[in-house]
Amino acid sequence: MGGDEFIILVPGIDAISEVREIADNLVKSLSIPYKVRENEYFLSASIGISLYPEDGKDLDTLIKNADIAMYTAKDNGKNNYTFYSTEINKDIVSRVVIENELRIAIEEERLNLYYQPQVNIETGKIIGLEALIRWQHPTLGFVSPSTFIPVAEETGLIIKIGDWVLNKACKDLKSLQDSGWNSLTMSVNISMIQILHKDLIQSVENALHNFDIAPDQLKLEITESVAMSQPEYVISKLYSLKEIGVDLALDDFGTGYSSLNYLKLLPVDVLKIDREFIRELEEDTDNITIVKALIEVAHSLNMTVIAEGVETKKQDEILSHINCDQIQGYYYSRPLPMNDLVKLLTS
Ligand code: C2E
Ligand code: MG
Ligand code: MG
Repeated sequence: MGGDEFIILVPGIDAISEVREIADNLVKSLSIPYKVRENEYFLSASIGISLYPEDGKDLDTLIKNADIAMYTAKDNGKNNYTFYSTEINKDIVSRVVIENELRIAIEEERLNLYYQPQVNIETGKIIGLEALIRWQHPTLGFVSPSTFIPVAEETGLIIKIGDWVLNKACKDLKSLQDSGWNSLTMSVNISMIQILHKDLIQSVENALHNFDIAPDQLKLEITESVAMSQPEYVISKLYSLKEIGVDLALDDFGTGYSSLNYLKLLPVDVLKIDREFIRELEEDTDNITIVKALIEVAHSLNMTVIAEGVETKKQDEILSHINCDQIQGYYYSRPLPMNDLVKLLTS
């Protein structure tokens, strides 16, 4: 069907169990490693299955539904098979709705940015902000970025959105600077798709230039999982970003299984310890020991450490005790719209 998509037509089936058996055998046979010269290779396959006539009476519908089922199989971790069901289709439909509505939201400029303060743990002063995207839909209500960012990534819309975020964040930072808060930094989340896109560097430079922002006041956050995939390409892209002079932060650290050894290869200035670790701080002292060690490693690599998702005074105290540099979380402030942020800064 395509570069790596194949169709298997199985006529004369009497029971679903026969289809299962065939799919099982296929997955099993394909997963046996094979040798080319001295190297062993592994193949994985994701199989989507549609049945005639239940799932479609014509070829196009059957193929489309098998395709939908295949994507579900992929999402479930590859090397398996999934039967098409209307349940799955509901999920796909809502994605289609989100995609369409998102296009409209971009056109009509209905996306917004909220800002969450990053606070120096010693002085309690706000030293930076993280821009977090918000989407209030007229009928769907508030749609969380965790729901629509993945759709935006799949459809490529993230390039347009990411560009808008960069510009809006720089614009708002400029207006804060003009009101006298001129040492604040602005952190912007960057998705893997943006990192892979050829225009990223230009797009960052443009945003800085458009609003006359000094490069070292902009921080780009990439998640640990992004840094882990295609490491060589990502690392070279990160170096190009460093050349512009922007700061880089590794987001959600601790969730992506990267080795500490890998950390030293990344030209990042800031390590953001994932909320999960912070949440567990109060539970037992082992967790404190782990976070303390992470902070020490980061410091030895000259990185600044931000704890994400700090919600309690106790967590704040523990973090201060083990030399964390900055905190970000509901304990200090939720992400705020511009006007509330200005009120907070003023107070
Ligand atoms: P993130 O970059 O790790 O952002 C931190 C998330 O934790 C935010 O969720 C924030 O609202 C939430 N948070 C902050 N403090 C606390 C706390 O004390 N407790 C709890 N429970 N949560 C807290 P949000 O805004 O829903 O964003 C989720 C993710 O979506 C972000 O994770 C980021 O990966 C992505 N995202 C948000 N805005 C953008 C954007 O403009 N571009 C891209 N590419 N991704 C974005
Ligand atoms: Mg972030
Ligand atoms: Mg994070």
